[in-house]
Amino acid sequence: MGLIVQKFGGTSVGSARRILNVADRIIEEKKNGNDVVVVVSAMGKTTDELVDLAKQISAHPAKREMDLLLTTGEQVTISLLAMALKEKGYEAISYTGWQAGIKTEPVFGNARIINIETEKIQKQLDVGKIVVVAGFQGIDEHGEITTLGRGGSDTTAVALAAALKADKCDIYTDVTGVFTTDPRHVKSARKLSSVSYDEMLELANLGAGVLHPRAVEFAKNYGVPLEVRSSMERESGTIIEEEVTMEQNLVVRGVAFEDEITRVTVIGLPNSLTSLSTIFTTLAQHRINVDIIIQSVTEAETTNLSFSIKSGNLEETMAVLENNKKLLNYKGIESETGLAKVSIVGSGMISNPGVAAKMFEVLASNGILVKMVSTSEIKVSTVIEESQMIKAAEAIHQAFELSGSTVKS
Ligand code: ADP
Ligand code: ASP
Ligand code: MG
Repeated sequence: MGLIVQKFGGTSVGSARRILNVADRIIEEKKNGNDVVVVVSAMGKTTDELVDLAKQISAHPAKREMDLLLTTGEQVTISLLAMALKEKGYEAISYTGWQAGIKTEPVFGNARIINIETEKIQKQLDVGKIVVVAGFQGIDEHGEITTLGRGGSDTTAVALAAALKADKCDIYTDVTGVFTTDPRHVKSARKLSSVSYDEMLELANLGAGVLHPRAVEFAKNYGVPLEVRSSMERESGTIIEEEVTMEQNLVVRGVAFEDEITRVTVIGLPNSLTSLSTIFTTLAQHRINVDIIIQSVTEAETTNLSFSIKSGNLEETMAVLENNKKLLNYKGIESETGLAKVSIVGSGMISNPGVAAKMFEVLASNGILVKMVSTSEIKVSTVIEESQMIKAAEAIHQAFELSGSTVKS
């Protein structure tokens, strides 16, 4: 007998009928003789609807109130699911994040889990109950309710699996696994039978929304075996694990993309030793995430600096830069919105020179201009026009032979 953590995403619990279906999947696991802890998201598009509702009230709602609002979504699902399980003859109890002992840092909107006090859950498991926990939420040291960032229910599940030393964490979603690229946008995408933690972490960080990046981080750090699979279909999913034996010619494992990127250019920054650290420290103090950074090296007294951000952070970024104009001592700022990031990921790249060159060649031959580039040992990212994002992803996907028959690892 083992302990399994199952997580069901928004679409999987999108209606009463689907919640009843999820209850059946949980009961199957229980009948196999396992203890089960279940993590669920808000039903369907509830979180988006709550965000819209808040926008109708206030352009800049307080982050604390936003977190309190958004966490209501998951609370609806846990109680309904516990009722469904009881209706089917199984003992179950639902807990919000704070009832479940999920402690986070004191940050609204994107808090990290610091610790999980598992005694309460363990007690319920010991008396044979199925424990249903609300994803995406926790409580900080001041007793304030926090959220883990959009898509954060995956992280709740993996963190619980780590804290409870579960044998496995299954992420049930609306696709049958992790694909070579987003199957909703690129029809030739293929399901991967397995992918390494490192590759999955890059894919998730670069926009493959199938898993929350911090969930992968937790899984890697605590060695939690993870499987992404469908809540509707019965087929086996994608295993995420430490080492994946590579097919020799599989240099690129997947293509990820992300829209709503903006490039900010700071013009006429003093060419001094401390310019860079001052500007990025200032942005970091306001928790603005900067992605790709490009600085031109010149002998001149001033230099230009470009960096990319999520478009949603543009207003705040501009305000921070303008409020600190004296300190930063630049001449002007320009920004370009309507951009996207398209990336390739694969641990086989380390030993294969020319992968980036091939990617640029494919983009050029499709008339796609690359505006920014960033590389690491296992990825190449390019920033391009948003309108060309899917075309670029399809072309790259094809050029690296990711479609075709099932990609084995
Ligand atoms: P959930 O609500 O279950 O958490 P998400 O919408 O967060 O579901 O994640 C599943 C979605 O991730 C899929 O519907 C798919 O469009 C998207 N996705 C992006 N990249 C990939 C990929 N490489 N493989 C599978 N799905 C992907
Ligand atoms: N309900 C939250 C969201 O939509 C968390 C999640 O689904 O993982 O982002
Ligand atoms: Mg998700």
